[in-house]
Amino acid sequence: MPILKDYFSAFAYILFPDNCLACGGVIEQGEKHICTVCRVSFPRTNFHLDKENMLAQKFWGRVKVEHAFAYLFFRKQSNVQSMLHYLKYKNAPEIGQIIGSWYGQELLDNDFYKNFDVIVPVPLHPKKFKSRGYNQSAYFGRGISEVWKIPQLEQGLQKVAHTESQTKKSREERYQNIKTGFTVPNPKEIEGKNVLVVDDVVTTGATLEACISLLLENGAKTVSVAAIAVTQS
Ligand SMILES: [Zn+2]
Repeated sequence: MPILKDYFSAFAYILFPDNCLACGGVIEQGEKHICTVCRVSFPRTNFHLDKENMLAQKFWGRVKVEHAFAYLFFRKQSNVQSMLHYLKYKNAPEIGQIIGSWYGQELLDNDFYKNFDVIVPVPLHPKKFKSRGYNQSAYFGRGISEVWKIPQLEQGLQKVAHTESQTKKSREERYQNIKTGFTVPNPKEIEGKNVLVVDDVVTTGATLEACISLLLENGAKTVSVAAIAVTQS
């Protein structure tokens, strides 16, 4: 009965907001949404230390990515999965911002952040945005943006309905990826910039590939990728 379980889980969040959204344990004073034990024990990838990491390899031969890194490994039935479930489906977008600021702080040490001029989140389809009410990747980007003091263009990429982009025959077409329906509404904002695309969970990397190639086609100097988590398969 997954629906019933979801219902209880959402109900528990309303009734017990002081429980950790990753492990369910009690939140102590000073902690917000995620307990310190989870924060410390989340499985880091440390991909920023290895340019040829597993996430970067996903794009080899597909599209040119400057840096590809992810905060955590995603495993089924894990605390990371539970946390991401709240982020995506249980109206807890602030988790994204918390995780983004933690990751941003952990990457401050080695000047790594200086590789980027601007952050662009992977957009949601307008219908999905309407039903969810927020873009979870943009919240992750906000957290990083605050710590690194670099701007995020929340509308840097947009997703449009397939039919529109396929029937349009104008010079605007070159700003659009016809196949996927992504667009860059204002190419001037990213021209000559080192762009960091942020996403929630990466599995195949197909969505990111479409976003990256479109940003490059529209004049980005380099494009890199930061995700909250990556699946290990
Ligand atoms: Zn916890």
